[in-house]
Amino acid sequence: MRLRGTMRVNEAGRLEIGGCDTVELAERFGTPLYILDEAAFTARVAELAAAFQAAYPGEVALVYAGKAFLTVGFARLLASLGLWLDVASGGELYTAKAAGFPPERLLVHGNNKSDEELRMSLEGGAGRLVVDNLPELRRLIRLAQGKAVQTRLLLRIRPGIPVHTHNHMQTGQEDSKFGLGPDEITQAVSLLRDAPHLRLVGLHAHLGSQLHDPEPYRRLAEGMVAWLERVGELYGQPLTELDVGGGWAVAYREGDREPPIGLWAEAVGTGVQEAAAAREMPLPRLLVEPGRIAIAPAGTTLYRVGAVKTIPGVRRYVVTDGGLYENVRAALYGANYEAAAANKMTAPPDRSLPTRVVGKNCESGDVIADNVALPPLEPGDLVAVPVTGAYHYSMASNYNRLPRPAVVVVHEGEAELLVERESYADLIRHDRIPARWVQAGALPESVSRRP
Ligand code: PLP
Repeated sequence: MRLRGTMRVNEAGRLEIGGCDTVELAERFGTPLYILDEAAFTARVAELAAAFQAAYPGEVALVYAGKAFLTVGFARLLASLGLWLDVASGGELYTAKAAGFPPERLLVHGNNKSDEELRMSLEGGAGRLVVDNLPELRRLIRLAQGKAVQTRLLLRIRPGIPVHTHNHMQTGQEDSKFGLGPDEITQAVSLLRDAPHLRLVGLHAHLGSQLHDPEPYRRLAEGMVAWLERVGELYGQPLTELDVGGGWAVAYREGDREPPIGLWAEAVGTGVQEAAAAREMPLPRLLVEPGRIAIAPAGTTLYRVGAVKTIPGVRRYVVTDGGLYENVRAALYGANYEAAAANKMTAPPDRSLPTRVVGKNCESGDVIADNVALPPLEPGDLVAVPVTGAYHYSMASNYNRLPRPAVVVVHEGEAELLVERESYADLIRHDRIPARWVQAGALPESVSRRP
């Protein structure tokens, strides 16, 4: 496993992250455990900011995509770094508000925002709201009537640009549930021309995720500037903001491609500048929405081995306390990861059989990392899986009624909880027994008790 961020192997041959020994972290916080390397995250944010500032002479807003990973504590870190934050649901918005995230730096997404979510956005003074569809816009116009609205609008467009990634991670193609097509954009603008209490300031698009190729971003940037001009003319006021979404790829395993962030920034920055210059338009404020590229490499998940099963001539299964309840990406996208024995970092790998790290969910697709190099392992050993900062905790579930793991942030030898581990009591907190079933004899006798 490649050591990332502040990872190092300490004198005891154990994996250390953020100056914390992972064996001690497992003892203190239990497993599975999501570990967030704060310095790795802040370094990545600095890298993103530098790349976009170098590639684009206009104003740039880095809008972290909260869907990748968001907690109240983490939102505070985002705010302190000067980031903007994109939220895609009432729950993410509520989290940001609970953290005291500056509302003017919030951008609200969602392809089916409820009235409550729209109200929360308007009343909380969210800086930007991205309109996904016409029915939503009609409801928004009605809900905002008579209110002093701070929230500025962007229209999400369907750019119709194909990209090479897993089907489930494409969002900008013509056949997509997200955004407005050309006719719908025109209709949206005419609705907004009659709604002076709302203000349209720009356009948004998101091509998809885990994209390696800068070329679609250049096309997107150029196409969106053309739309910006056209929509501004229709609207009767120039539009000043262009949001090109996120989606730049990360390497999950050694050998995976992770092209430099500069290529992404360059494609977007040049695309916007050239298209704006060709139209003699002032440079718009550029918004970018990195999620995975910002946070994925800063996360590592730590597992305890429960059993090692060897099928002669076939495979070695390393069975852990994790699974698709805490990492659904393998089952959802066929994602694969590296792994290391966190308590035996200097032990040579056992290559006698292919090794698959699996979890405890009742599915054969419950794979955590496949074909990994791990030393001989026994119950009680620890396995670390890197690059799990994005779409792991945020996609976790209680499948098989398993409590979701804790999240700790590590920094310069200190480890602190961002999220507590769920308890069994948490799992049944919202369960209810229908009144009829509470009374004795109210339920039919069980089949097994019948003669
Ligand atoms: N912006 C929007 C609108 C998205 O839908 C997503 C991901 O789904 C992102 C940004 C972040 O994408 P990524 O995490 O791949 O950078």
